[in-house]
Amino acid sequence: MMPTISINNSQKLNLSPLKMPERLLLGPGPSNAHPAVLQAMNTTPVGHLDPTFLALMDEIQSLLRYVWQTENPLTIAVSGTGTAAMEATLANVVEAGDGVLIGVSGYFGNRLVDMAGRYGAEVKTINKPWGEVFSLDELRAAMATHRPRILALVHAETSTGARQPLEGVGELCREYGCLLLVDTVTSLGGVPIYLDEWGVDLAYSCSQKGLGCPPGASPFTMSARAMEKLQQRSSKVKNWYLDMLLLGKYWGSERVYHHTAPINLYYALREALRLLAEEGVENSWQRHQRNVEYLWENLESIGLTLHVEKQYRLPTLTTVRVPEGKDGKAIASKLLQDYNIEIGNGLGELAGKVWRVGLMGYNSRPESVDQLIAAFKEVLK
Ligand SMILES: *Cc1c(COP(=O)(O)O)cnc(C)c1O
Repeated sequence: MMPTISINNSQKLNLSPLKMPERLLLGPGPSNAHPAVLQAMNTTPVGHLDPTFLALMDEIQSLLRYVWQTENPLTIAVSGTGTAAMEATLANVVEAGDGVLIGVSGYFGNRLVDMAGRYGAEVKTINKPWGEVFSLDELRAAMATHRPRILALVHAETSTGARQPLEGVGELCREYGCLLLVDTVTSLGGVPIYLDEWGVDLAYSCSQKGLGCPPGASPFTMSARAMEKLQQRSSKVKNWYLDMLLLGKYWGSERVYHHTAPINLYYALREALRLLAEEGVENSWQRHQRNVEYLWENLESIGLTLHVEKQYRLPTLTTVRVPEGKDGKAIASKLLQDYNIEIGNGLGELAGKVWRVGLMGYNSRPESVDQLIAAFKEVLK
């Protein structure tokens, strides 16, 4: 018998203590958290201004600079998911009427368009079919036409599995006196990134994909050039919670109260980043590449085809074409119900056409591939 708990006179719920299934999360995110990360999260919280917590925040900052390969002083975790950190980049540097050029070749490019418009940007887009990427020449031509203040690109388009090359884009932006903003949500930790070498001015990520942590504490960084634009604003940042002039005082030397940090999530993020540093970020990139190649071989060996041209495929997220005549959604739900494996369905232009298979962070292991392939063989029969 489950205990009956009365919430009010008209409503009774049968509530047993929380019990959730153990899933293998091989979709576009979240991915499974590392057991040591969950353990760290289970530590008794201290206060958000406790000296030990402030020291932990400093460690998070140093570790984030390392995994992103940047020296930006303002490198922090935003309290919220990747979307909050995404919003923070635009909210801080966009002023009404600023030209923002956005590369759209998937779902998250469109989200940037919507967000930038809400902050009053004069939004222009360059577009490609979902699964393709922009060449430097295409970007150069669009820059010459639109002369934006900010160019925004998605490094790892989770909706398509394509990796946008970023070499040379930073120099191009400097020629035009423009800031470069990059979404690294599905690349941080799993795909080589060199923020400073590439001249990226604003970047954001999340905790629950390549970092192998639960969602809720999201990396954010801005360069000195981006900081200058923020400091020269003629109007206040339109989002109080994400205003880096205020948040920077909590993360910087002043340490003044801004909001109550989600203490335990920061514990988790710190442990996830520590594990990544212990492995070595280059080793993690190589592990993701090795395991995804193993996945590709196995998928092809059971007769499936991949959506993105090989040289632009992400090591963290693979789009697999749903075979002609098969119901992709039904197969994905069978994998979940019968095998406890989650994969993603297609979005937007790719709805019904692909599955999205993630091998991110802790889940980027040969055993994940073996489990998925064994299940796929059964359900595709
Ligand atoms: C997941 C994702 C986001 C949004 O992050 P949330 O943590 O879901 O808010 C943004 N951009 C890309 C490319 C993503 O994959």
